[in-house]
Amino acid sequence: MGIDFGTSGARGMVVDEEASIQAQVRYPFQDSPGAVTPKIWQEALFVLVQQIPDRLRREIKAIAINGTSSTVLLVDAAGSPVDAPLLYNDARGSLVLEHLRSIAPPNHTVLSATSSLAKLLWMRQQSSFIEARYFLHQADWLAFLLHGQLGISDYHNALKLGYDVEELKYPEWLENLQIPIQLPKVLTPGTPITELRPEIADKFGFRRDCLVCAGTTDSIAAFLASGAKLPGEAVTSLGSTLVLKLLSRTRVEDARYGIYSHRLGDLWLTGGASNTGGAVLKQFFTKAELESLSREIDASKASELDYYPLLKVGDRFPINDPNLPPRLSPRPDNPVEFLHGLLESIARIEARGYELLQQMGADNLSRVYTAGGGAANDIWSAIRARHLQVPVVASVYTEAAYGTALLAMGGGIKGEQE
Ligand code: ADP
Repeated sequence: MGIDFGTSGARGMVVDEEASIQAQVRYPFQDSPGAVTPKIWQEALFVLVQQIPDRLRREIKAIAINGTSSTVLLVDAAGSPVDAPLLYNDARGSLVLEHLRSIAPPNHTVLSATSSLAKLLWMRQQSSFIEARYFLHQADWLAFLLHGQLGISDYHNALKLGYDVEELKYPEWLENLQIPIQLPKVLTPGTPITELRPEIADKFGFRRDCLVCAGTTDSIAAFLASGAKLPGEAVTSLGSTLVLKLLSRTRVEDARYGIYSHRLGDLWLTGGASNTGGAVLKQFFTKAELESLSREIDASKASELDYYPLLKVGDRFPINDPNLPPRLSPRPDNPVEFLHGLLESIARIEARGYELLQQMGADNLSRVYTAGGGAANDIWSAIRARHLQVPVVASVYTEAAYGTALLAMGGGIKGEQE
């Protein structure tokens, strides 16, 4: 079983030995993400579990959970939260960034207002810190509710805490901070931690030997679901923004472009994110217009319109320029031509992004899977394939919960296990 905690709700998926989906359950969050508390996460977790048909629940052999990256909390010795969690996009860490810059190596992934480490340093200054014993990511805490062990994480969630995923240890500069709290022990995602707590197993009718495994983050879980497996295979997410992920034998990092690599067994998941994407299309067209107007585009012909579609000034990847202006003119009167120009231009930015990752040493692009709202647009896929010069296909599955179920199966990450 894979369980996904996203920003708008939680989902669960049960798969069989062949990775076919046997059950899918959902728990939408009624409130805005900011109003969702650990108590609601906990309720969501157990409601999801309860929705699985009894006969299937009895057969589940392993469970893994993915959380939202950099959603973190402090808990006491019993695992109870001592304060509200800091959510993925909470930027209060900006208050400690200068201090963090004096500690962490230049251009390190933790040097962002929303990094887990920036959040931890901010939390250290709050009065509730005195009651805290463990620092956990959302996925760590939810897994704890199932297996009962505190202080365990995985190297995907721990990347933005500063964990060294190459050496598989906390770096010396982080140890030297001497934060008077237990940092999580970090496991390979998908590693079995231990069996379910017996009271949980009995209460919900799970097998006593059902394992709880180390989890991952939401975006890596979505990558695992896509079907991409080999070096050179990539997943483009065409949602509100444009996010690229390319599987590679080499690690690439460049903080200037916001490029970093997650470890994926023996491989590296390199990637970058641009502010261009579907949000700009949405500004000009309804979903129905996007579908009908796209059908009138001749994808084999390149549009001469050269835009840089942005909602506001600035991009980081593949052009690192906080002052980069949106470029959306000239705007032809014909909406088909305008849309063609927008799709063509976003495709150019995507191709440039993959080019940049490859220039930095990532493996040669061989195939691009696609997720997000734009994945359904075949005309756009054809335009993108013309620029990318490799097959562009839809992701096999796009649900993070499915990727996390593969992880629990042991099929998510090949390579070293602790
Ligand atoms: P989010 O990143 O917000 O989760 P989604 O993955 O749900 O986004 O994708 C929504 C985006 O997909 C919207 O911004 C919309 O412009 C875009 N989109 C929806 N349908 C199409 C389409 N047929 N062609 C291109 N883009 C589309």
